[in-house]
Amino acid sequence: MPAVLSKIDLHSHSNASDGALSPSELVQRACDRGLTHLALTDHDTVLGITEAQDAARGRLELIPGAELSTMWNNYQIHIVGLFIDIKSQSLLKYLEGQKVFRKERAREIGAKLERQGFANAYEECRKRAAEGASITRGNYARYIVEMGKAQDTNEAFNYYLKKGKSCYVKTQWPDISVACDAIKASGGVAVLAHPRRYEMTNTKLRELMEYFKSCGGEAMEVGCSQMSPNDLNYMTSLCKKYDFMASLGSDFHHEGPFRELGLGLVIPEELKKVWECPQAEKFNFPSEA
Ligand code: AMP
Ligand code: MN
Ligand code: MN
Ligand code: MN
Repeated sequence: MPAVLSKIDLHSHSNASDGALSPSELVQRACDRGLTHLALTDHDTVLGITEAQDAARGRLELIPGAELSTMWNNYQIHIVGLFIDIKSQSLLKYLEGQKVFRKERAREIGAKLERQGFANAYEECRKRAAEGASITRGNYARYIVEMGKAQDTNEAFNYYLKKGKSCYVKTQWPDISVACDAIKASGGVAVLAHPRRYEMTNTKLRELMEYFKSCGGEAMEVGCSQMSPNDLNYMTSLCKKYDFMASLGSDFHHEGPFRELGLGLVIPEELKKVWECPQAEKFNFPSEA
């Protein structure tokens, strides 16, 4: 089967968090790949949006977004806000709190890595990202690979960063409802990110979706990178069951064999697309896409 290439990708990262490319480089890559619509959704920050908007002007439609970290039943759940107003005071206040929280956590992880022999880990990661960026475990994973201590970022997680490993730091992220409120207060749409990546049973996943819905969540990612046909069918049925709009996104972070802008992203015809919501009107989405 030929690889599907979507011209719309509503989940991506820049070096304002744990992506490798600057916002302008990311936009350039999206243009080179023929995309018409790209959402920049860095972790708990909107720092890269203005640069991305400037780079995108007249070339592609840049949708302002952010991926918010939350906690539900001990699972780290990601909520993507799309079509957000990056000047919204309530959103900025929320992100300011997250910034302090993330910085503290990043320093703690860095200190643990130092004990494992990675000198100045926090500073080294900070230097590699944009000024003021959200430092995530993704930044550390890339640094560990760069230092030759893991073959790839997944291995870096398995050796050092995931729960139970030496450099894991337990974190209490805000509740899903708090993140949804911040997104909605900024005029955005709350989207449940990559529902298949939480390593939970289908029963738990349905519970999560019910809770997300009760918090005002309106959409879920149906088109994700590397999704099996079975998972796509199941996500489609859940999207209908909970009456969510469907989104799609590669979650691109850096060049590599697994995730690429627009690659392999599909939403079945029968679902209502997230870009059919009123907030999307000014972004010129194609009516039949
Ligand atoms: P954090 O929000 O600081 O806990 O970091 C989460 C980020 O780490 C995710 O957005 C991914 O970019 C990255 N990540 C999580 N798990 C893995 C994994 N197994 N392999 C590679 N990267 C991962
Ligand atoms: Mn990430
Ligand atoms: Mn995520
Ligand atoms: Mn992401």
